[in-house]
Amino acid sequence: MSDYLIKATTFNGMVRAYAIRSTNMVEEARRRQDTWATASAAMGRTMTISAMIGAMLKGEDSITVKVEGGGPIGVIVADANAKGEVRSYVTHPHVDFDLNEKGKLDVARAVGTTGSLSVVKDLGLRDFFTGQVPIVSGEISEDFTYYFATSEQVPSAVGAGVLVNPDHTILASGGFVVQVMPGADVEVVDKLEARINSFPPISSLIQQGKTPEEILELLFEGEELKIHEKMPVQFKCKCSKERLANAIVGLGNDEIRQMIDEDHGAEATCHFCNETYHFTEEELEELIKA
Ligand code: ZN
Repeated sequence: MSDYLIKATTFNGMVRAYAIRSTNMVEEARRRQDTWATASAAMGRTMTISAMIGAMLKGEDSITVKVEGGGPIGVIVADANAKGEVRSYVTHPHVDFDLNEKGKLDVARAVGTTGSLSVVKDLGLRDFFTGQVPIVSGEISEDFTYYFATSEQVPSAVGAGVLVNPDHTILASGGFVVQVMPGADVEVVDKLEARINSFPPISSLIQQGKTPEEILELLFEGEELKIHEKMPVQFKCKCSKERLANAIVGLGNDEIRQMIDEDHGAEATCHFCNETYHFTEEELEELIKA
């Protein structure tokens, strides 16, 4: 089954909802980063929610999410855009702990609970918009819930979960974002809270083979659900030799000269997808001229 997300409304348009199946996308990132189980769950939750925030954008717009909780995983970075393309990396992929007291991957221990979550929106010719909030739980979903409430002033419920196989591959990954529109009745908010609090973990629903549509139908059972869009999502990196050449140029001519004289070439690896690009002495000479 391929990954996709859906955009929907319910409660007569007073509630907006997104749901996503992201198993393949997270597996591709795990494979490229070689993350261990707890790190995979932290990165996977971040990617899954970032994909839904990306889907809230239009055209060429994109976002960069940074989770810096002060924990052993270091920083989690995720880029997502309006086309469902997501990439991510973590500073220290080899982080794995015993399950927490709830029997779940101990994401908060890997992420830490002291730093910040930031979302930078690159809205093309318009502005960069940056929202930053303190990490409130380190479990990622709660941190994004807090981000939406304080930075975007949209009361939201956010869920994201990742299940990992014993061999470290991704068994199931998915998530939802439910947002209450301005002017919604208090009654609607109360109903929503009750449903979300008693909702099963999203990762187990995905594992059971439930589709994003079925997940929202279950969440909003008895209410009319309007599905507005279905969109494929995937791991996709936008790196290229040209982009990494620009990064090398940024090091300055002295540094490049040293690469030529001492190493007779250079290798540059993309953080996100782990592709390595080789630069010959001749290519490095060209970069100095440029
Ligand atoms: Zn790349």
